[in-house]
Amino acid sequence: MPLKVYDLAKEYKLTNTEMLEVLRKQGFARLSPSSDLDDESVLRVRTALTAAVAQSDKAGGSTEAASRPAAAAAGERQPAAAGAPAAADSVEVPINVSVKELAEKLAVPASEVQKVLMGMGVLAALNQRLAPDAVRRIAQKMGRTVRVPSEGAQPATSAAAPAATAGTATGNGAAGTAQRPKTAGTAPGTVARQATAVSAKGRAASGGLQVRPPVVTIMGHVDHGKTTLLDTIRKASVATGEAGGITQHIGAYQIETDGKRITFLDTPGHAAFSAMRARGAQVTDIIVIVVAADDSIMPQTEEAIRLAKEAGVPIIVAINKIDLPGANPDRVMTDLTRYELVPEAYGGDVQTVNISAKQGEGIQDLLDTILLLSEVVVDPKADPHGPAEGTIIEAKIDKGRGAVATVLVQQGTLRTGDVIVAGIFFGKIRAMSDERGGKLVKAGPSTPVEIIGLNGVPDAGDRIEAVKDEKEARSLAQKRETQLREQRLGTGNLVSLEALYHTLRFGAVKELNVVLKGDVQGSVQAVRDALQELGNEEVRVRILSTGVGPISDNDVLLAAADKDQDVKNSLVVGFNVGTAGGAERKAEQEHVQIKTYSIIYELIDAVKDAMVALLPPIFEEANLGKAEVRALFRLPGGRSIAGCYVTDGLIRRNAKARLYRGKELLFTGDIDTLKRFKDDQREVQTGYECGLTLRDFNDLAEGDIIECFEMRQIPREL
Ligand code: GDP
Repeated sequence: MPLKVYDLAKEYKLTNTEMLEVLRKQGFARLSPSSDLDDESVLRVRTALTAAVAQSDKAGGSTEAASRPAAAAAGERQPAAAGAPAAADSVEVPINVSVKELAEKLAVPASEVQKVLMGMGVLAALNQRLAPDAVRRIAQKMGRTVRVPSEGAQPATSAAAPAATAGTATGNGAAGTAQRPKTAGTAPGTVARQATAVSAKGRAASGGLQVRPPVVTIMGHVDHGKTTLLDTIRKASVATGEAGGITQHIGAYQIETDGKRITFLDTPGHAAFSAMRARGAQVTDIIVIVVAADDSIMPQTEEAIRLAKEAGVPIIVAINKIDLPGANPDRVMTDLTRYELVPEAYGGDVQTVNISAKQGEGIQDLLDTILLLSEVVVDPKADPHGPAEGTIIEAKIDKGRGAVATVLVQQGTLRTGDVIVAGIFFGKIRAMSDERGGKLVKAGPSTPVEIIGLNGVPDAGDRIEAVKDEKEARSLAQKRETQLREQRLGTGNLVSLEALYHTLRFGAVKELNVVLKGDVQGSVQAVRDALQELGNEEVRVRILSTGVGPISDNDVLLAAADKDQDVKNSLVVGFNVGTAGGAERKAEQEHVQIKTYSIIYELIDAVKDAMVALLPPIFEEANLGKAEVRALFRLPGGRSIAGCYVTDGLIRRNAKARLYRGKELLFTGDIDTLKRFKDDQREVQTGYECGLTLRDFNDLAEGDIIECFEMRQIPREL
């Protein structure tokens, strides 16, 4: 009788993720917790697990939750504590080995290791450090065996620790205890897997990396379901009995599944991601690329793949909308291979998960896959001790509360009362809350929190750090501001030199003046960055101002001030905001256009169109046809009508004509009249005769050739 993966997991007291890992190592790829296993497969897994349990018992391993380390062993982990002999040809590899060092150990070129990693969806630099499990997987792919000895140096109790620690994290993500015995001299990376944020006392203890929840960004083509997926995941975690339930948008949220946490950045879109990266912020551990199964890979999917690869962040592909009749997940998988993303089902290493974000199907699989990839490849770690460091995800001004910012804590622990510097602003944290509005007093790595107390609104992607006191904060913030001003001045010079060069070469560069308003700082910044990338040597965007909040009459006035005769060159653009006060009336008076959008790509397209409208038109000549002059008819008053025979294409009245006598071009101008017999014609086709006159030219002769052409305007684009 077939058995589901999750039933088997339950039987062995393993999480779904752990059971899937065991299965993978037993050669079963592409399974989900709800997959059926036939008798033979179940037997194979049972045999492997039983053998591993026996070995673990023999080594004196804890019988409590024995299956867990056993599962590890069944999954080819060989803790030295269990006394498992190393395979004869296995290579000893130090913990946290780099790509280059691993290649040396395996005596292969580093590019071989990189190639294997690329197959796993990871673009790794030579000095990239690899998690022990990743090392094992790479070795396995190359048909080799490795030992990572310092793992085995853990005390036996520590091997069982993961079982005990799962589920200690609380909803607010700040509590929970580290289960790792504080063994002196334990190498980083040997920490128990599910260790969560430390208690306040832990702060005094020095150093020590601990596993933190992975941070996930969702990307993909517009309308492929990013927002729906983010909503469904959020709701699913609420449904599983999380505290609270009312969630608000703070730019990121954390969920818990199987006792493990995952942080999602709640700002879908590539612009946000690029903006963060542009500011040097590296916040994402895993990128989930959503591809609609009825649409497959589209331009923004390609872009997401490129961004993920550039950032060296591993990819999971969520094939969405499988509920639709036109869904074709196989096509998506085939298409992925064109981008060096080979799905597991095709023998590659890229995880794909079929989902319906709308109906909630496959969501648990996706979460399991994220956790698996996180544990096996990413192995995210941070030191929860000491002062906090992190990145601003979003920031805005709130009427009652002042500057409100969402911070993703990345190192250390952030606490209320901490003095922090964020970009060029600083302040003492007056209050902290999570996405459910719950008050927090502290937040460890990978926790997103909303804070109040800053003296201004920093930009998304700005670094934040906790400092000693307000004096230090003020001086650091000032230093940064000075740097920023110098940088701006620097760029200002560059821009004007550039502008000068272009003016010399192409004439004046056209500018589209834009006043930009948005709902939150993060989105404003993302849009601004995206707009600034638009343009070419002929036209570009000049951002007059940006801000958070509805479009006001002031914004209109600002745009109007920079508008020249050509009313098309100034725009007020709103992203996720409307207008307020007399903005619309003012816009009518001042002939300024206001445009509002809630989809970034639509906004960008509209701005592009407005830029294109500023470009001078370009025309191109299109040949229409040819005619030969066969007879001349003199009219009273000296005008001649040329009796012609159309030899090619057609001749059109009011089109242009060139008159050739032999090779000599005698005239270029307009066709004036065109007749067949006595009747005026709009055009005359090949094989017909016609009579025509040329405007302002009368010196026609038999045998002349008339070429007819038209000037067509070429649509301009950026
Ligand atoms: P985004 O632009 O990528 O954020 O896409 P949205 O989440 O806004 O989704 C675009 C449209 O696709 C919306 O009308 C959704 O209701 C719909 N949609 C999203 N996921 C699914 C799905 O799994 N099945 C179906 N049938 N429709 C979906």
